[in-house]
Amino acid sequence: MGVSRRRLLQVGAGAAIATAIPVGQHVAWGMREFERDDYSPDYPDAPAGEEAWMNWAGAQRATPIDLASPQSEQALAEYVRSSAHRIRPRGSGHSFSGLVPSEGAILDVSYLSGLQNYDADTGIATFGAGTTLFQAASKLHELGRAFLNLPDIVDQTLAGTFSTATHGTGETLTALHDYIRGFRMVTAAGEIVGVSAASNPDLFSAGKVSLGALGVMTSYSVQTVPAFNLHRIVRAEPIEQVLDELEARAAAHRNFEVFYLPGTGMAATLSHDVHEGDITGVQPSEDDEILEGLKQLRDQFGWWPWLRRRIAQSALPSGVIEDVSDASLELLATTRPIKFNEMEYHLPRDEGIAALRQVIEKMDRRKDAFFPMEIRYIAPDDAWLSPFNGGTRMSIAIHAAVDERFDYFFSEFQPIFLRHGGRPHWGKWHNLKHDDFAMLYPEFSRFAELRRDLDPDGKFLNPHLAELFGESFDA
Ligand SMILES: Cc1cc2nc3c(=O)[nH]c(=O)nc-3n(C[C@H](O)[C@H](O)[C@H](O)COP(=O)(O)OP(=O)(O)OC[C@H]3O[C@@H](n4cnc5c(N)ncnc54)[C@H](O)[C@@H]3O)c2cc1C
Repeated sequence: MGVSRRRLLQVGAGAAIATAIPVGQHVAWGMREFERDDYSPDYPDAPAGEEAWMNWAGAQRATPIDLASPQSEQALAEYVRSSAHRIRPRGSGHSFSGLVPSEGAILDVSYLSGLQNYDADTGIATFGAGTTLFQAASKLHELGRAFLNLPDIVDQTLAGTFSTATHGTGETLTALHDYIRGFRMVTAAGEIVGVSAASNPDLFSAGKVSLGALGVMTSYSVQTVPAFNLHRIVRAEPIEQVLDELEARAAAHRNFEVFYLPGTGMAATLSHDVHEGDITGVQPSEDDEILEGLKQLRDQFGWWPWLRRRIAQSALPSGVIEDVSDASLELLATTRPIKFNEMEYHLPRDEGIAALRQVIEKMDRRKDAFFPMEIRYIAPDDAWLSPFNGGTRMSIAIHAAVDERFDYFFSEFQPIFLRHGGRPHWGKWHNLKHDDFAMLYPEFSRFAELRRDLDPDGKFLNPHLAELFGESFDA
C-alpha cells in the first residue's frame, strides 16, 4: 500500500496508553487466542506412494495418487488419454476455493511455459499456459509491450489467471481473460484442439473463464499493448470522504482502488494514470510492516473500538503518502509476503456503494478484524462465466490472517454480497452451489452442457466442481 514504515510504526506509541489503562477487559483481550483450531501450516501427511499438495493459503489440501508434470503438449495429451484417474490441472495454487484439490491426479503444466510466438503486426503474443504473469509481463517488457492491466500479484500462471477471471482495477479495463484471442487445450479424450472466436465461438466464449473444467489448456494467444509508464499517488484519508467521492474518482483515473483498514475509519487510496516523461522509480512494498502495525493495534486495542480508532487516526499518516512513476509492471503488481484467506464478491456497479457501507459497518463491529479490505472496479466482457459479463462491477474483497478464523465471511458478509446481486470470484472463498450459479449467470446451463459434452465421464471433476455443476461424484 505504500504507507511509509516510519509513519505507520507510530502505532507503537499507543502501547504506552494501553498499559496506563488497568482495566479487566483489557487484560482479558490480551489473553485472547486468535488462532483458529483447524489451522496448520504443514503439508498434509500423504500415504505411501501418494503425494501431498496444498494451496498458497494452506486451507485446500489433497494427497493425490499422482502429481504429474508432462514435458510437452503431446505428452500431456497422452497422459490425459491414458490416465485412469480423475485429473485436476493446477497453476501456482493461488486459488482459495476448492478448484484444484484431487485425490486422483493433479497436473502441472509449468513445462509448457514461455513465449512461443509474437506477431509484431497485431501485437498478439502466444505463451505456454503454465507461464506465470511475471514471466509473461517481463518478456513483453523486453519486446516493448505490456498487458493492459494486471492483478495485485503476478505469481499466477496464465491458465490459472484466465480460468478464474482474475482482474485488476479500472472501470474501463476488463479482466485479463478478455485479452485472449485463441487457446489450445487437451480434451478429456486426449485430443488437442485449437480454439478461436472464428473456429468455435461457443467453446471460445466458455473457455476464456473455464475453471479448468473443460480441458487442460496448453497455450494462449493474447492481445498485448505498447509498453507504458504509470504515475501513482497513494493517499491516506478518512473512509467517509472516500465513499462520498468513490464513483467520481474511479471514473477520473485509469486505475483506482481503495484499501479500508478495519476498525480505524481510515483508508489508503491508490490511483494510477498514464505517465509520459522521466520516471522516479518505486521502492519495494512495505505491506508486511503495515500489516504488522495493524495487527498490533488490534491485539492491544481491539477490546475498545473507540480507543483503537482514536489511536489509529492519530498514528496513521494523512494526505499524500506516495507519489511515484514507473513501468506498468512495477506499479500495478506487488508482493503479498503475509498470507491470508479471502472472499471477494463482484457487485453490479449501482449496488456497490450501498453494499460497501454495510460491509464496512459490519467489519468495524468485529473487534478481531484488522486485515485491509480491497475495493476495485472492473469493466464488462462477454465470457460466459465472467463475473463481469453484463455490466461494470465493483469488487469488494475481505481478508483474514491465514491462521485466524474466517468462518464469519460466510455467515456475516456473504449474505450482504448476495442481497446486492454479487457474484463470487471463482478462485476465492464462497459456498454457493449449482442452483445459485444457475441464477447468477445467464449462460451457466449452456456452459454446464458444453462441459458434459466434452467430459461425459467427469474426468476433470472434483467434489467442488461436481457441486458447482450439479453432478454426482464418486471418488
Ligand atoms: C496473494 C494473492 C493475490 C491475489 N490477487 C488477485 C487479484 O489481484 N485479482 C484477482 O482477480 N485475483 C487475485 N488472486 C486470485 C488468483 O489470481 C486466482 O485464484 C488465480 O486463479 C490463481 O492462479 P494460479 O496460477 O495460482 O491457479 P490455481 O489456483 O492453481 O488454479 C486456478 C484454476 O485454474 C485452473 N488451471 C490451472 N492450470 C490450468 C490449465 N493448464 N488448464 C486448465 N485449467 C487450469 C485450475 O484447475 C483452477 O480451476 C490472488 C490470490 C492470492 C493468493
